[in-house]
Amino acid sequence: MGDLSDFLRKHKRSFPIGLSGIPGMGYILTGGISPLSRSRGLAIDQIMEIKGFWGNGKEFHLFRPTSPKGLSLEWKALSGAAIFLGIITKVKLKTQPLRPILSWTANLSFSQLSECINQAESWPNCLSLQWIWGDNIFAHAIGEVLNIDHEAKLINLLEKLPFTCNRTINKISHMNSLPKLSLKNSRYNNSNHSEVLGLLGPAWQKNNLKVLKILKRLIDKRPNKSCYIASQQLGGLTNSNEIDTSFIHRDAIWKPWINGAWEAYDQSKRNKTLKWMEESWGNLEFICPGVHLAQIHPHLSWHQKELSLAFKDWLPKLKEIKASNDPRNLMPPLK
Ligand SMILES: Cc1cc2nc3c(=O)[nH]c(=O)nc-3n(C[C@H](O)[C@H](O)[C@H](O)COP(=O)(O)OP(=O)(O)OC[C@H]3O[C@@H](n4cnc5c(N)ncnc54)[C@H](O)[C@@H]3O)c2cc1C
Repeated sequence: MGDLSDFLRKHKRSFPIGLSGIPGMGYILTGGISPLSRSRGLAIDQIMEIKGFWGNGKEFHLFRPTSPKGLSLEWKALSGAAIFLGIITKVKLKTQPLRPILSWTANLSFSQLSECINQAESWPNCLSLQWIWGDNIFAHAIGEVLNIDHEAKLINLLEKLPFTCNRTINKISHMNSLPKLSLKNSRYNNSNHSEVLGLLGPAWQKNNLKVLKILKRLIDKRPNKSCYIASQQLGGLTNSNEIDTSFIHRDAIWKPWINGAWEAYDQSKRNKTLKWMEESWGNLEFICPGVHLAQIHPHLSWHQKELSLAFKDWLPKLKEIKASNDPRNLMPPLK
C-alpha cells in the first residue's frame, strides 16, 4: 500500500491506504479501513474491476455494478471475502485527488481518552481518531484538508482535544508519511509471536466510561507487555455503501483490535495470551458485536465464531458460493 501511495503521489492522486504502508493486496481484499475511510469509504468500495481465478481454476473478470440492481452475488462475495474464494490477479481502483493531511498525535490519560472519543463521535467525516493502549495511551487524529478555510476548522477541532504530553500537529503531504500508531515507550520484543483480532461496533456514546473501565482492567492484566488494545474510527461513508459487499457491518463506528503477544515457541505463554484475547473479546462483545477479518485464524478454535460474527446472515450464501467455486477448499476455509 505504501508503494501504491508513493506511485499515485507522483500523479497527484491518492488511495485510502490504512495506518501503515506495509500491508499488501490483503488490505484491499479484506475491506481496508483507512483513516480517510469516513470521507472516502473502505478500500473495497474503490474497486471498479476485479480479475482472477476461483479456487476451481476458472478465470473471472467482473465489473463494479453501476446500480444496486446490477449487483451479482459473485461481486458481493469478492468485495470483502475474496481471500476465501480465489486468487486475485488484478484490480482496477478508483483514486482521488492528493490533498494535504493534518496529523495530531499525543499521549493521553484515561479520562483524556474518554473525552477524545466523545469529541470524535461528533466530528465531521473528514477527521478520524485512532488510539493504542498498552503501557501508555497514544492517540492519532488524522484529517484531510480541502482548502485554507477547512484547514482552520480542522485545527480548531484538533486544538480542543485534551492531552497529557508530546502533542504535535503536523501537516504532511501523503498517507505513506504518517507517524506510526505504536507504543514508543513499550518494550517491544522482536522475538514475540502474536495474533490480532479485529472487532466492529457502534458509537460508544453513553457507554464510553463503561467500555474504557473494561479496557483498563484488561490492559492491567495483560499477560505480556507487547499485548495491547487499539482502535480505528469508521462512520461517514463507510456507513453508506450503495453497492452491497461482504463487509456487512456498515453501521460500525469503532474497530477496536486486540493484539495478543507471547514469547515465541512458549506454548504455555501462548495459551495464556490466547485466553486473555478471548476474555477481552467476550468482555467487549456487548459494544462490538461484529468482527473484521483483516486477520483470519483457521488454526484457532474461535475461527467458526469469527466467521459467523464477520458475515452473520450472509455466511450461508457465501458458503454456497465457495462450494461451487472452490469445491476442494484450496483457499482458506469458511468453516
Ligand atoms: C502494520 C499494519 C497496519 C495495518 N493497518 C490496517 C489498517 O489501517 N486498516 C485495515 O483495514 N487493516 C490494517 N491492517 C491489516 C491488514 O490490512 C491485513 O492484515 C491484510 O490482510 C494484510 O494483507 P497482506 O497482503 O499484507 O498480507 P498476507 O498475509 O499476504 O495476506 C492476507 C490474506 O489475504 C490473502 N491474499 C493476499 N493477496 C491475495 C490475492 N491476490 N488473492 C487472494 N488472496 C490474497 C492471503 O492469502 C491472506 O489470507 C494492518 C496490518 C499491519 C501489519
